[in-house]
Amino acid sequence: MTIIEEKYNWARTNFSPNNPDTIVIHQALAPSCTAQDIHRWHLERGWMGIAYHYFVRKDGTIYRGRQEYHRGGHLLGDENINTLGICLEGCYTDYGNLTEKTVPETQIKALHELCDDICSRYKIVAIKRHDEYPSAKGKDCPGKYFPWERFLRERGIIVVSDAWKEKAVEFVRKFQQATGLTVDGMAGTQTNAKLDEVIKKWKEPPKDNAQDIKKAWNDFLNAIK
Ligand SMILES: [Zn+2]
Repeated sequence: MTIIEEKYNWARTNFSPNNPDTIVIHQALAPSCTAQDIHRWHLERGWMGIAYHYFVRKDGTIYRGRQEYHRGGHLLGDENINTLGICLEGCYTDYGNLTEKTVPETQIKALHELCDDICSRYKIVAIKRHDEYPSAKGKDCPGKYFPWERFLRERGIIVVSDAWKEKAVEFVRKFQQATGLTVDGMAGTQTNAKLDEVIKKWKEPPKDNAQDIKKAWNDFLNAIK
C-alpha cells in the first residue's frame, strides 16, 4: 500500500495532538475530486485545511491529509479527539444528478488496506460512520450506497441491530431477576460474575438450583419468538 504525500498550505498550524483509537469513514459527496480540492474547500470554510487524515480515490489511490498525530476536523469539536478521518471520493447517497449507486471495488479494497495498516499501528477500538456521531444526526455519510454492513463483516465486525440490542437487555433483566440480582438491564460486574458462575455450573452435572437459570433462558427464548 502506498500513501501519496501531498503538500498543503495550511491556514494555521496549531494542531491539537491526536492519539487515534477510532476510525471514522466519510464520503466526499462529490463524484470526482482530489485531495487538494478538499483542502481548498475546507480552507474556504475558514478551517485549517483538509480536515481528514486520508482521502481514498475511486481508483484505489490513497492520499494523506492531516498527519495522524494532528487532530482532525471532520467531526464537530471534541468528537474529533483521537479519531482518524478517512474520506472516500464519491457521492454515495441520493444527491440529485450526482448520485452514485455503486462503490468501485478498487476503492473498497484500498479502504480495507488502509484500515489494516492503521489497525496494525494503533489499538483501534471502533470503526464508525460519520453519521453515527450526534452532530451528524440525520445525515447520510458515508452514504446509503456504500455497503457498510458488508465492509464491517469483511473486517470481522458483526453488526448488531437495535432490535437485537433490545432483546439483549430483556435477557439481562430476566437473568438478573432469576438469579436474585438488582434488575437494571445492565450487564455490569455483578451480572457478569453471576453469568460466569452459571456458565461454570452448566459445565458440571445439572443440579436442582439450575432450574431458575433454565427458566430465565426459556423466558428469553420465548421473548425473541
Ligand atoms: Zn462525513
